[in-house]
Amino acid sequence: MRLILLGPPGCGKGTQAQLLCARNGLEHIGTGDILRQAIQQQTPAGVRAHPFVEKGLLVPDSLVNDVIAERFNLGDPPERFVMDGYPRTLAQAAAFDQVLRQNFLDLTAVILLHVSDEEIIARVSERWSCPKPGCKATYHTTSKPTKATGICDSCGTRLIQREDDRPETVRARLVVYHGNTEALVGHYRAQKLLHEVAGQGPIEEVYASVMKILNGQAGRKC
Ligand SMILES: [Zn+2]
Repeated sequence: MRLILLGPPGCGKGTQAQLLCARNGLEHIGTGDILRQAIQQQTPAGVRAHPFVEKGLLVPDSLVNDVIAERFNLGDPPERFVMDGYPRTLAQAAAFDQVLRQNFLDLTAVILLHVSDEEIIARVSERWSCPKPGCKATYHTTSKPTKATGICDSCGTRLIQREDDRPETVRARLVVYHGNTEALVGHYRAQKLLHEVAGQGPIEEVYASVMKILNGQAGRKC
C-alpha cells in the first residue's frame, strides 16, 4: 500500500495517517518528521534545510523535494507508506512522480479527505490555549473542556485563541490550500489515482471509508 493523503489543514488527515500506519504496517512520511530526520542525519539536503528550520522559516518547496528524494534514494526506500502533507503543490507532485519512477514504485491511491471550510473553521474555533509561559495547556470546547468556562484548569489564567486558531487565519490558510489542491487533484485524477472521502464524520467512520477504497484497489495493484 502506497498512499498520498490530501485534505485541508484541520481535517483530521494526521489522525487518519497515524491509524493507517499503525494498523497496516505503513511508514508515515510527514514533511516535518522527514525534515527533522534529514537535519539530524546531516544529509546534503538536511544541511541546506537546517538554517530555515532553525530560524523558523518556511523551507522552500524545491528543498523539501530534495529531502523527500533523499529519503527514497539514499539507503533503503520505504516500500509501503502514507504521505501526509507532501506533495502540497503541482510542482512537488511532478517531482515526487519522478522519485517514484526512479524507485519502480507505483502509488496505490491518492485519498482526498473532504471537510467543508465552515466545518474546519468551526472545529478550530473550539481550540483554546493558556497563554501563561510554562503552562501553555490546550483545551477544546467539546472534546477537552475546562471546569470553569474560559479559565485554565492548571493555573487559573484566562484562555486565549492562538493566532493560528483564529477564523481569519484559518480562512487565509484554506484559500492557499484550495489554490494548490485543485491542481493536485487534477494531476492525480488524470492518473486515475484520486478517490474522495467524506471526512466530516467520526474518526473510525472516516477510517472505514478509506479502507474500503484501499481494499477495492488492492486487487488491482499494491
Ligand atoms: Zn494555564
